[in-house]
Amino acid sequence: METNSSQSAGNAVAHCDVLIIGGGPAGSTAAALLAQRGKQVVLLEKAHHPRFHIGESLLPLNMPLFDKLGVTQQISAIGMPKYGAQFVSPDHNKEVSVEFADAMDKSFPYSYQVRRSVFDHVLIKNAAAKGAHVFEGHRVTHVELNGADGARVTAQDEQGQTQQWHARYLVDASGRDTFLANKFDLKKKNSKHNSAALFGHFEGATRLPGKAEGNITIFWFDHGWFWFIPLQDGTTSVGAVCWPYYLKARKTSPTQFLLDTIALCPGVAERLKHATLVGEATATGNYSYQSKRMVGEGYLLLGDAYAFIDPVFSTGVFLAMNSAFLGAETIATCLDQPQRAAQAMRQFDTTIRNALKTFSWFIYRVTTPTLRDLFMAPRNVFRVQEAMLSLLAGDVFRDTPIRSRLSFFKGIYYLNNLMHLKRSFAAWRRRKLMIRDPRSEIAAG
Ligand code: FAD
Repeated sequence: METNSSQSAGNAVAHCDVLIIGGGPAGSTAAALLAQRGKQVVLLEKAHHPRFHIGESLLPLNMPLFDKLGVTQQISAIGMPKYGAQFVSPDHNKEVSVEFADAMDKSFPYSYQVRRSVFDHVLIKNAAAKGAHVFEGHRVTHVELNGADGARVTAQDEQGQTQQWHARYLVDASGRDTFLANKFDLKKKNSKHNSAALFGHFEGATRLPGKAEGNITIFWFDHGWFWFIPLQDGTTSVGAVCWPYYLKARKTSPTQFLLDTIALCPGVAERLKHATLVGEATATGNYSYQSKRMVGEGYLLLGDAYAFIDPVFSTGVFLAMNSAFLGAETIATCLDQPQRAAQAMRQFDTTIRNALKTFSWFIYRVTTPTLRDLFMAPRNVFRVQEAMLSLLAGDVFRDTPIRSRLSFFKGIYYLNNLMHLKRSFAAWRRRKLMIRDPRSEIAAG
């Protein structure tokens, strides 16, 4: 996709209100919203959609965002309905299923599993349809930030031609390429978390029956956990998220290592008994990171360009799109009411940090035996199970009564830890050892 318009620089420097680096869910969402507000938006994407991307499970609270973008029908046409999740733990000899319809707010009972190539294509086409000037095959190579004077951006197209833009405001939505965080040396490794993933797509996997067919299943195993994500086209995405040390021990191809790892988890092996892997498996170090800053004069960072924690609760696309909604609002304030810019930037920063913090507490503990016990024996005392389902549905940006219930859940967690002190200490020590970075550097997958 390439819009030939006055926004195309050619040899001269072109001007726009907002320039966005990256056309994933964060960049395309922000582009659509800002163009809809009448801003001159340029979106530069280095690849061509549809392009492969991992991250296929969406959350119920994504749905109102699709409504606001006007893409709900298109997403429902490509998505596999996901009404809930199933948890399978080898230590508990049972499976537990939960439904989003039982969350505190019952109005978001489902979401979708999607092929990201197709999903991201819908979003970037929507940005173009809303009036954003979209240039695919354009890699941003250089950025100069000039405070109140905006930014000068250089990009290279596939013919090696260099083009330049001057933007009043710059958005980094470059995903795990973390363009600005790298440029300004802002990226820091998450000292509390670390994991790596191996994944592939299978034909002929055994899915759950009936309405639960599209539900995600999480299987714990010795080295981490597996996702099992059924897609609408009949294939099923299966991935193992493991301690980095486990992945580093790999001596075979990613495909063989994935198959060997599946054999270590009887639950997944059973579901894939009659399945075949389509193509090759992929291995990726998804080292958890965060940028020291997400906003400054004339620029902000969205989605993975700011932070990535872990795929376990399928929060990536949801956080990317929410940061785009909040970011678009912030940018509009900065451009139209500069006297309110500082307050808007603070608000944006606080809201995103709080959401990440809320998810992080649970993500950091998801492989501990105590949290697993609680997930495998859900009880709705003080509506705590409903609150947990609200969290899993992504209900963290609204003013809802889930916070006090989540605090109560944390209390139960700490109490259980005390009751099984020896086991908890051993798990804490193992985790601390396992999350050390085997290469002591951040590596993007
Ligand atoms: P991206 O989707 O990565 O988009 C960034 C875009 O920027 C890309 O298209 C890229 O080509 C472009 N770009 C980069 N650099 C430049 C440049 N210099 N110039 C121009 N363009 C550039 N999330 C979920 O919600 N559900 C899941 O089930 C899930 N599973 C995951 C499993 C794994 C193993 C991993 C690693 C992640 C998973 N995620 C999941 C996270 C999810 O993939 C990301 O959080 C999400 O894609 C972030 O969206 P984004 O728009 O910020 O970045």
